[in-house]
Amino acid sequence: MIDAHGRTIDYMRLSLTDRCNLRCVYCMPEEGVKRLEHNDILRFHEIMTIVRAAASLGIHRIRLTGGEPLVRKDIQDLVAEIASVEGIDDVSLTTNGVLLPKMAKDLKRAGLKRVNISLDTLNPQCFAEVTRIGKLQDTLDGIEAALEAGFDPVKVNAVTVRRLNQDFLAFARMSMDRPLHMRFIEYMPVGGGEENPGCGWDEGDVISSDEVREIINRQAIEMGLSPLVPAEDSRPVGGGPARYYRFEGAQGTVGFISPRSRHFCHECNRLRCTSDGKIMPCLFSDKKFDIKQAAAADDIEAVRDVLMQAVGAKPDDHHDRVGTERGMSQIGG
Ligand code: SAM
Ligand code: SF4
Repeated sequence: MIDAHGRTIDYMRLSLTDRCNLRCVYCMPEEGVKRLEHNDILRFHEIMTIVRAAASLGIHRIRLTGGEPLVRKDIQDLVAEIASVEGIDDVSLTTNGVLLPKMAKDLKRAGLKRVNISLDTLNPQCFAEVTRIGKLQDTLDGIEAALEAGFDPVKVNAVTVRRLNQDFLAFARMSMDRPLHMRFIEYMPVGGGEENPGCGWDEGDVISSDEVREIINRQAIEMGLSPLVPAEDSRPVGGGPARYYRFEGAQGTVGFISPRSRHFCHECNRLRCTSDGKIMPCLFSDKKFDIKQAAAADDIEAVRDVLMQAVGAKPDDHHDRVGTERGMSQIGG
């Protein structure tokens, strides 16, 4: 599928649930979001109809997300079914990692290729504050479990938020001794709208990728280490819009994803499907195309039509829009 701005759309982010076992302050209000009714959530057979239709239109990579995708019951079975669809050659997952120690090996066996694990701080107390209900060790154990299960690449994603006082160098050094790809993501103005008023974004909290890289390099040099060097030749598979660097001799890389300071809308290749079956042309678009009805009727032609309408509605750029109706956990980050 090629959109009106000449971009090839071959990737879909599929949200499996709006529920989560954490409550990250920038993503969800403390009391959680108004949860979707069970009947509103896409069932497995509806998801499979959407995936088959998408594959027939040239989508060949699927990323499962949420909310927390690993709280969706029987996700291993879904992964196996999606991985067996003709035309889908890459099934990946974005997770907070908490459930990976229990599930990583089964997910690998089911055909999951890659995992991205979200981790915003290496300080146990700060982790408890950011996630409101989480324990740092659980996510660290999840990273170990992903490496042990043989996922390659394993990426660790940190949203950079000024008020969190994150230790960027400590994060970046996680890429030294193990094949971990550490990525820093600029904080995006998602949420704050009617459906998720509680997750307030503040411009003052945004730290640009350039500033993060400068801090890492300055602190590295102070410690007698060499600074990061560009490493586009070592881009991990599925690296998306990140720019990659590495420390000399490191096993992994350090990537920067800069939706605020460096627009990469011209490279956008994706559609999003929310857990209640809305196709979103863009993270920052309030346009949504209902696909649940067509999927429930197993009407693959109608499902294909909805996908093509959404591709046709992809904007050229997010034009620095601030705030969206839904928060990240409801869209599928
Ligand atoms: N629960 C899973 C997790 O945390 O990885 C998957 C869903 S979560 C919404 C996906 C990603 O979105 C996480 O890495 C999270 O940090 C990121 N995210 C949430 N709100 C964000 C924001 N305002 N700006 C940038 N990233 C955000
Ligand atoms: Fe849950 Fe992920 Fe949102 Fe954190 S970022 S509250 S783990 S969905």
